[in-house]
Amino acid sequence: MTQDATQDHRRTVPRTDALLADERLVSAVRDRGRDVVKAAVRRAQQQVRDGALDPGRVVEAVLAALPPAGTTLRPVLNATGAVLHTNLGRAQLSAAAVEAVVAAAGATDVEMDLTTGRRARRGRGTLDALRGAVPAAGDVHVVNNGAAALVLAATALAADREIVVSRGELVEIGDGFRLTDLLESTGARLREVGTTNRTSVADYRDAVGERTGFVLKVHPSNFVVSGFTAAVGPEQLRGLGVPVVVDIGSGLLAPDPLLPAEPDAASALAAGADLVTASGDKLLGGPQAGLLLGEAGLVERLRRHPLARALRVDKLTLAALEATLRAAPNPTRDAVHADPGELRDRSERVVRALAGAGVAAGVEPSVAVVGGGGAPGVELPSWVVVLPAELAVPLRTGARPVAGRVEGGRLLLDLRTVPAGADDLLVEAVTTTAATTAATTAEVLR
Ligand SMILES: *Cc1c(COP(=O)(O)O)cnc(C)c1O
Repeated sequence: MTQDATQDHRRTVPRTDALLADERLVSAVRDRGRDVVKAAVRRAQQQVRDGALDPGRVVEAVLAALPPAGTTLRPVLNATGAVLHTNLGRAQLSAAAVEAVVAAAGATDVEMDLTTGRRARRGRGTLDALRGAVPAAGDVHVVNNGAAALVLAATALAADREIVVSRGELVEIGDGFRLTDLLESTGARLREVGTTNRTSVADYRDAVGERTGFVLKVHPSNFVVSGFTAAVGPEQLRGLGVPVVVDIGSGLLAPDPLLPAEPDAASALAAGADLVTASGDKLLGGPQAGLLLGEAGLVERLRRHPLARALRVDKLTLAALEATLRAAPNPTRDAVHADPGELRDRSERVVRALAGAGVAAGVEPSVAVVGGGGAPGVELPSWVVVLPAELAVPLRTGARPVAGRVEGGRLLLDLRTVPAGADDLLVEAVTTTAATTAATTAEVLR
C-alpha cells in the first residue's frame, strides 16, 4: 500500500459514536454489552489506521471479531407462525417472568423464611400462585416438565401395578418419545382398553381391578381423530374406585374460548379428575415445568416419593412460573389472541419500513398454528410479510436471527408469533440482511 493510501485511511477512520449508532451494533450492544462491543470497535479502528481494514467494512469486522458470548444459545425472532415452536424453545417468557428470573439468579429465599431464618417450603410463593389460579385443586406440585409429572405419578401411584389407558390416547409426544415407553419405564404396566377410535366406560370398568394403580386420560394434543369416534370423560370414570389422572398436556388452567377443544385444569378437576398433569411452557406461556394439581392426599404422596427430589425444579423456573401465573398477559397468550386486523396493520407497517430502506416486500393473509403439541387442527388467521426465499438462510444466521417459513419458493414472516414490541428489530434484521444479500434485487413473488 502506498503512503498516500495509508494517509487516506487515517483520515477516514469512522468515529466511535457513529459506529455505535449503527443498528447492527446497537443490537450487538443490547445482546453482548457495551464494553465488549466498544473494545472490538477500538481494535477495528486501529486496523483502519494501520491500513489493514477498509473503513466501509468496520461494522462487519466488529461483528466478526466479537468474542463468543457466555452462551451459544442465540435469541431468535420467531416469525414461523407456530406460537409454541418446539425447536425455538416453546413459550417465550413475559417481561415480568424474565425480570423474576434475573432477580432470583443470585442468592434468594427460595427455601428460607427470612423472618425466622429457618428452612421454609421450597417455592412456596409459586405453589400459592398455582393454587390461587386453580382453586379446585386441593394441592399442587411442580416438577421439571410434563413428562416428569407423568413419570412421578406413575412411579408413586402405579409402580408394579397397572395403568388403565385407552388405545386412542397412546400418544407419541415428538422426537420419537412415546408416552407408553415413558410410563412403562417406571415399572408400571399399561392395560390398554378400547380401540383407536372408540373407547367406552365399560371398557375401563372391565379392566379396573385389584392391580389398578390409576386410570389415565391423555389429551391427544398433537393429532385429531375424527369420524366414528367415542371417548369417555373423567366424569364417567370417577365412580370406578381408582384415581383418575388426566394429562391435559398444554397447561391451560381455565377454559380459553378461542380454543374450545383444548382441555384445562379447572374443568378437568371439576369433571372428576383426581390428579391433573400439564406442561408449563405450552399454552400457559411459562418456563419448562410440569404441573401436578389435584386431591391433596395424592399430591402429598407424589411430593414425598424419593423420585420427587430428582425431578425438582430450580429457583429460576420457580421464579418464572410464579411471575407467569401472577401476571395475566404473556407472549403466548398475546400471540394466540392477537387480532387479525392488528396483525395486518403491523405487517403493512413493517413492509412500509422495509420499502423505506429499499427492501421490497409484500403482505398477504396466512394461517398460524399453536404448535408445540397443542390445539391440533386449530387455525389462527394471520398475516405474513413476503420476501424472497433467498433471504431465509442469511436471516436465520445473521446478527439477529429471524426464523420464518419458506413456502412456495417465498419466505413468509408471520407477525402473529413475533412479540408486538419486536417489529423494529425484525425490520432492522431484514434490512441489514438484505443489504448484504444479492437477493435484495430479486423480485418479490406474489
Ligand atoms: C407435551 C405433552 C407432554 C409432555 O410434556 P413436556 O412438558 O414436553 O415434557 C405429555 N403429554 C401431553 C398430552 C403433551 O401434550
